[in-house]
Amino acid sequence: MIEIENVSKWYGAFQVLRECSTQVARGDVVVVCGPSGSGKSTLIKTVNGLEPFQQGVVRVDGISVGDPKTKLPQLRARIGMVFQNFELFPHLSVRENLTLAQVKVLGRGKDEALERGLKVLDRVGLLAHKDKFPSQLSGGQQQRVAIARALAMDPMAMLFDEPTSALDPEMIGEVLDVMVGLAQEGMTMMVVTHEMGFARKVADRIVFMDHGSIVEDSPKDEFFGAPRSERAREFLARII
Ligand code: ATP
Ligand code: MG
Repeated sequence: MIEIENVSKWYGAFQVLRECSTQVARGDVVVVCGPSGSGKSTLIKTVNGLEPFQQGVVRVDGISVGDPKTKLPQLRARIGMVFQNFELFPHLSVRENLTLAQVKVLGRGKDEALERGLKVLDRVGLLAHKDKFPSQLSGGQQQRVAIARALAMDPMAMLFDEPTSALDPEMIGEVLDVMVGLAQEGMTMMVVTHEMGFARKVADRIVFMDHGSIVEDSPKDEFFGAPRSERAREFLARII
C-alpha cells in the first residue's frame, strides 16, 4: 500500500533522509521511532507529498507521490494524517471540522457529509460534543476529533506523527485506544511514536531511524526481543 524506495532528501548540504526504504502492506501497522532529529517526521510526510525529496520513489496504492503528473490533492484526500498539535480549524465547530473537506474535496452533499461525520465522531466517543468549538475541548478530545476528521474521508491509509506527545499523560490513553481500535480493524497505518506499549500491542513492524537512515526495520517481536543495532538497543534502554 505504501512503498518507500531509496528516498534521499537534502536541505542544502544537510542530508535529512539517506536512502530510506520500507513498505507498509495493506492492513499493516508500522511504527517509526528513533531519536529527535533523525528524520521521522520528514519521512512520514514524504508519503502524502508534504515533503518533496530529491531521490527515490514513494508510491501509495501504486501511485507515485513525487511524479509531477500525480494529482497530489486527490491522493492526499485519501491519506489521513494526524499531527502532534491537532490542527483542527479553530473557528469551526466540531461538526464543521468533520464535514468541510468531505464537501469541498470529495464533493459529498452536506447531508451525506454530516451523516458520515457524526458516525466517525460517535466512533471516537465524542458525539455529544458535535456543536462545540475546538477550544472547548481537552487536548485528548481535540486529537480524537482530528482522527475522526481524517476517518470521515474514508482514507486508504492513516499517517500519525507523534499524535500523543503534546498531550497530558491522562489523555494519552484515550487517543491510543482509538488508534488500537483502528489497527485491529485492519487500517493501514504508519505511526511515528515513542509509545512502545502501543507498538507492542498492534505494530507489525518497527522502523528505527537514526541520522536520516533507516537503521532497523524488523518484525515487532524481533525488534523488542533482540534489536540488531547497538543504536536501537541504546534507544530502547532509554525510553522503556
Ligand atoms: P523529532 O523527534 O524531534 O520530531 P524527527 O525525527 O521528526 O525529530 P525531522 O523533523 O524529520 O526529525 O528533522 C530531521 C532533521 O532535519 C533535523 O535535524 C532537522 O533539524 C532538520 N530539518 C527539518 N526541517 C528543516 C528545514 N526546513 N530546513 C533545514 N533543516 C530541517
Ligand atoms: Mg518529528
